[in-house]
Amino acid sequence: MGLFTLLAKRFIAGETKEEAFEAVRKLNKMGMRTTLDILGENVTSSEMATSLADQYIDVINSINKEKVIANASVKLTQMGLDVSDQFCFDNVSRIIEAARAHKIFVRIDMEGTKYTERTLQLVYRWAEKYDNVGTVIQAALYRSEADVKELNKRGIKVRLCKGAYKEPASFAFQKKDDVNANYIKLMKILLDSGIFHSIATHDDAMINATKAYASQKGIGQDRYEFQMLYGINRAGQLELVKEKYGMLIYVPFGDHWFPYYYRRLRERKENVLFIAKHFFRN
Ligand SMILES: Cc1cc2nc3c(=O)[nH]c(=O)nc-3n(C[C@H](O)[C@H](O)[C@H](O)COP(=O)(O)OP(=O)(O)OC[C@H]3O[C@@H](n4cnc5c(N)ncnc54)[C@H](O)[C@@H]3O)c2cc1C
Repeated sequence: MGLFTLLAKRFIAGETKEEAFEAVRKLNKMGMRTTLDILGENVTSSEMATSLADQYIDVINSINKEKVIANASVKLTQMGLDVSDQFCFDNVSRIIEAARAHKIFVRIDMEGTKYTERTLQLVYRWAEKYDNVGTVIQAALYRSEADVKELNKRGIKVRLCKGAYKEPASFAFQKKDDVNANYIKLMKILLDSGIFHSIATHDDAMINATKAYASQKGIGQDRYEFQMLYGINRAGQLELVKEKYGMLIYVPFGDHWFPYYYRRLRERKENVLFIAKHFFRN
């Protein structure tokens, strides 16, 4: 294992399925649910996208066989969205069908704004056919309030996050305070819907606002869950479990880890310092 991989291990469960399942078993033992993500994005070859969907189906069969508490998170640009919408629809339908046979949920991750509309249109098509599919909404985007309302109308489960992609002011709030205010607004719309949604954040202010709103509205702890990324705010993850909140951890694995890793570094300057310190120590 190279130095870079060693450092990336802070955010990535491993390069192989076996390492990822080991991490999942540990998290399950600590009372946490998980979602597995095979790292990769912007795949432009249909053969590669087909083979990656096959890998997801293999992961789903292993979740069922090994009886771990896990579902799957999928990025559409990994599944051939850049080949064509119909190709991607058919490719991901295979994953959703395999998962449905074992009552496993499939979450469609949200990528950059170039893909938002096409991702949602595909999610609407899947949701008309299957009941085990949901998606992600980014509080940073102006359009998200309208999208959340549409998803609620259709009964589709949402993971609310702040948004990991750098977007221009024409599409997205640029100030953290504005993103946070929109996050809280969307969280309230989601919780009011009665649908089981997921609040994905490591930010104590967002978590506390969610807890306070739910308790004010008499929304039970079993009516929604919190989600965090593997390796980030571990103390907060344990704390929420102790307080009997549903806690799901996003567990990425695989060898195409650089773009995911880079987004995690960019989110926090301390991470860059952490890497630099280890680099010079080694
Ligand atoms: C389960 C899950 C799934 C996600 N799926 C998507 C998706 O599909 N599409 C998408 O665009 N984004 C996704 N994201 C990423 C999300 O959009 C944010 O980029 C990320 O969660 C950081 O935002 P935050 O809510 O933690 O708040 P921030 O304000 O960024 O961070 C709050 C605090 O959390 C801690 N923290 C946050 N990030 C890091 C980090 N990288 N390293 C160390 N500490 C950190 C720090 O203490 C920080 O002060 C997902 C996030 C989660 C938790």
